[in-house]
Amino acid sequence: MSDSQSDPKRFDPEALREALREAELETLLMVHTHLTHDEAFLEKFAPHIKPLYGPEPSDVPESLAAELRMRLEQVLLGQDLPIEVPPLPRPLMQRMMSVCVGEPVEDEFIPLLLDQMALEETPRRSERPGRVPPPKDFHVVVIGAGLSGICAGVKLGEAGYSYTIFDKNENAGGTWWENVYPGVGVDTPSHFYSFSFAQSPEWNQYHPRGADMRDYFLSVVDRFDLRKHIEFETRVVGCEWDDESQRWTVHVQQKEQPVRTVTADAILLAHGIVNRPSRPKIPGLEDFEGVVMHTTGWDPSVDLAGKRIAQIGTGASGVQLAVAIAPEAEHLVIFQRSRHWLLNNPTAGAPVPEPVKWALRNIPKYAEWFRFRAYWFAADGLFQNVLRDPDWPHQERSVSAQNEAIREFTLAYYREKLADRPDLLEKLVPDSPIFCKRIVMDGGYLDTLKQPHVELETDPIERVAPGSIVTKSGKEYPVDVIALATGFEIAKMLGPLRVIGRGGRDLGAEWGEEEARSYIGCQVPGYPNFFLIGGPNSAPNHAGGQNIVSERQVNYMIECLDYLRARGKRTIEPTQAAYEAFNRQIDERMPQMIWSHPKAESYYRNSKGRVYLSWPYRLVDYWNITRGPNPEHMQLD
Ligand SMILES: Cc1cc2nc3c(=O)[nH]c(=O)nc-3n(C[C@H](O)[C@H](O)[C@H](O)COP(=O)(O)OP(=O)(O)OC[C@H]3O[C@@H](n4cnc5c(N)ncnc54)[C@H](O)[C@@H]3O)c2cc1C
Repeated sequence: MSDSQSDPKRFDPEALREALREAELETLLMVHTHLTHDEAFLEKFAPHIKPLYGPEPSDVPESLAAELRMRLEQVLLGQDLPIEVPPLPRPLMQRMMSVCVGEPVEDEFIPLLLDQMALEETPRRSERPGRVPPPKDFHVVVIGAGLSGICAGVKLGEAGYSYTIFDKNENAGGTWWENVYPGVGVDTPSHFYSFSFAQSPEWNQYHPRGADMRDYFLSVVDRFDLRKHIEFETRVVGCEWDDESQRWTVHVQQKEQPVRTVTADAILLAHGIVNRPSRPKIPGLEDFEGVVMHTTGWDPSVDLAGKRIAQIGTGASGVQLAVAIAPEAEHLVIFQRSRHWLLNNPTAGAPVPEPVKWALRNIPKYAEWFRFRAYWFAADGLFQNVLRDPDWPHQERSVSAQNEAIREFTLAYYREKLADRPDLLEKLVPDSPIFCKRIVMDGGYLDTLKQPHVELETDPIERVAPGSIVTKSGKEYPVDVIALATGFEIAKMLGPLRVIGRGGRDLGAEWGEEEARSYIGCQVPGYPNFFLIGGPNSAPNHAGGQNIVSERQVNYMIECLDYLRARGKRTIEPTQAAYEAFNRQIDERMPQMIWSHPKAESYYRNSKGRVYLSWPYRLVDYWNITRGPNPEHMQLD
């Protein structure tokens, strides 16, 4: 625990002082209150800490900040290590949360906080009194070894289930294994976008590079010894339910080997929402004589130095890519079809200073409260922003006063950055409300666009010629490399996978190209013991954090399996009535959400305008609904 050289049972005073100087003040206040339960001192700060996206910044007087640092130094230096941390009374914890983020945080968040921030040790499922361990011959197949499949492996193992994970790739990590394009990085702060059960104080950046994220996931795979359960380079091509044996037959293919079958009592589909790249259908693209690369499947050996590059697409990946490749290119033309709001995030490329890492490693409860703030401002703290206020007078550009405030804040950033480039300002600022589609972080994109050898083209592409790209108005750009930042096929959620349920029901046919529906994003009636990760209407699109959703969906699956075994049954699935009621509720709720705004064109909606991807409530609501199966909604056999 200690870096101290002189006395291993005490903090190193110098390192501690340095950490206290650099560490986040609000988080230090939480540590102090957590260790001392000193509410009076907490209240001195309350009027000075403001919400991150509010109209006013926090204004903690320097004298008060200095007093906090001094008190905390005394508390920490005055005790032997490890420090005993007394449990927090719930009312105090709730008050701390509210002061920490400068706005009310309801009591209902506390269970989520305890779980996600790992503030208290939760007993393993296998240690629950009275729980019958799973029989050895009950086997779960997990499709995919990305973030979700890794999480499933850890939790299934802890719960005592036998399982196999199949992944088509040669290693784990999914998104973070496959995406190696220049500039690839994480938008969600990783002190939050990481597993609650495997938190790391070692992130080098608040928003890590893709390679750091990949290394983290691979380290979790090794730490929990998952490799022996994973079959790599093995694609699941389909699965079908057998009513007689009440098991799934799973068809898998390793590389070019013949397809073989394995059986499973339950399946978890963790094959990723953004795992099937979408290539634009542009006449001539297939006959282009230079290099064409999608951001997923990028070939790092292609030398971009001095090349004329065309980039198609300006979403999250496109923006990261452009910043990274512009310095190498002789000329870079970026084709923009739709506009995205770019959020100024001062921590976007910022390194985590060493003293802050020291605080995360050594100061008791610092990492947990730091994760809470990261969660709040990257997740439920943003929820009000996506709710439409029917009385709001400026519906054409925003959906509420809060949404307008963030719009104004962001517009001011655009205007400041592009004061000398009104042409770019006109091309870039969206006329849709901010947050009606995925937010993009500006890690230097606006500056990149201002460079003399970079052009932003909004004229649509007419065709690709063998050595150039021609626009609708006839402008021709000679290019050597075409970079496709054109995203993924998301609406066809099953991809090419064949899933056959009871009585020959075919999930691919039921969902079609873009009509995926589910019960709480986790199950579909007619498909027993079949569970989804990131299923329809489970994405918290008000903010980031697939980690928390995946953890909860894995939890839900295991609770369902435990529930059915405890009742001596073999299968579990939602009733048709519960499924229909859920979808009705979602469709009735959606008009209140920003994603249904008339100008909200995004991949959250299908071509008929139905929002099939988003979860229209807070993350805490999703956390609650996935505590375990609702007996009234389940059908057991
Ligand atoms: C560039 C980029 C940046 C992103 N940034 C963020 C962010 O900041 N915050 C955030 O919350 N999310 C972000 N995401 C979304 C990200 O995909 C999820 O957060 C998360 O990594 C998904 O994990 P997963 O395991 O569910 O899916 P994936 O990571 O896609 O993993 C799915 C796995 O399934 C395997 N697989 C697929 N089909 C089959 C099959 N038929 N048989 C066998 N194996 C199969 C794949 O090989 C893959 O390993 C980003 C995505 C991209 C592409």
